[in-house]
Amino acid sequence: TQSIHRITSGQVVIDLQTAVKELVENSLDAGATSIEVRFKEYGVESIEIIDNGSGIASGDYEAVALKHHTSKLESFEDLSSVMTFGFRGEALSSLCALCDSVTVCTATSTEAPIGTVLEFDRAGKLVSKSGKVARQPGTTVAVTGLFKPLPVRRKELERNAKREFGKALNLLNAYALVPCAKENKGVRLTCSNTIKGRKTVQLRTDGTPSSRSSLSALWGPKALENIVDLDLEFDVEAEKSVLRRQGVLDKGASRSIRVRVSGLTSKFVVGGGRSGTDRQFFFVNGRPCLPSKVQKAFNEVYRTFNATQSPFVVADFIVPTDSLDINVSPDKRTVFIHSENSLIQALKTALEEKFSSSRA
Ligand code: ADP
Ligand code: MG
Repeated sequence: TQSIHRITSGQVVIDLQTAVKELVENSLDAGATSIEVRFKEYGVESIEIIDNGSGIASGDYEAVALKHHTSKLESFEDLSSVMTFGFRGEALSSLCALCDSVTVCTATSTEAPIGTVLEFDRAGKLVSKSGKVARQPGTTVAVTGLFKPLPVRRKELERNAKREFGKALNLLNAYALVPCAKENKGVRLTCSNTIKGRKTVQLRTDGTPSSRSSLSALWGPKALENIVDLDLEFDVEAEKSVLRRQGVLDKGASRSIRVRVSGLTSKFVVGGGRSGTDRQFFFVNGRPCLPSKVQKAFNEVYRTFNATQSPFVVADFIVPTDSLDINVSPDKRTVFIHSENSLIQALKTALEEKFSSSRA
């Protein structure tokens, strides 16, 4: 069962980026307003996430890293409307199975300034609980030797350390930019990488809940030039197959889904935009995701106005939770939006208007 656990874990945590994603989302779920991510040797040696969230209640110590333990899901019906990032209780248990060590230091607001250090074995079993260290309310999770139990994947991580680190950093940029992260409460996000004892700060935001201030914090005030608010709103007709899946069987039935898109994008200017698509970030209800067709739509429309360049994009698709199906891909990166084709059409129309009105 150890090896089966390792295989299924390897589907939840597929690379450095998803490891970081799971840990950051746990901090966000815990209501953190400050999150520090520390990499050592690009994350190959260790990743440490320090938050000021709720902390872990002592009654949960034994179970937090066991498979399928989650403190977030009240009932199965909640799955279609979950507002927390995590809900399957697989991240910590997967990390335990895939790393040399997983150490947690945590304190709730009543326990602080005293925290407890927890260590788990590969099966996620609590193996040591040593108190009492100084800890403000919150949780620190430190993982070392990611993928050591999977030699091939470990080799890959070591070989591509910089690229893998770049992907993780890109995801942290997305969290820094998310327009409506968790009730619009800003999160102070810091990220550093220490190589051979030398620490360099990679990213720092001040916690202002605005995409513009984060954009400026990430790439300098110049990055705000020619940026306009992306504020779109349109209706999407639910496709027949979706209605059928939802149990709506009447022949003439129809249902439209209201979609709002909020964020920032490049204004159309000659020579504007960017030559690459590295600064394009997409979210569904505040969750970073990779909707490749949506990204393609943005680029296509922008390019019809501006022959070669691509726009900067921060776009959060705000849709009713019952039109989402978030329980599909194990790494949760793929968020499926029902009726995607009609959505793309409506989006393109709205973008064409947007870009033509921002035409310089
Ligand atoms: P999930 O997020 O799906 O519930 P995880 O394996 O990611 O599952 O986490 C298991 C549990 O550990 C969470 O439900 C939560 O109770 C606790 N936990 C993990 N990380 C943190 C954190 N940073 N702050 C507070 N609690 C945490
Ligand atoms: Mg989680």
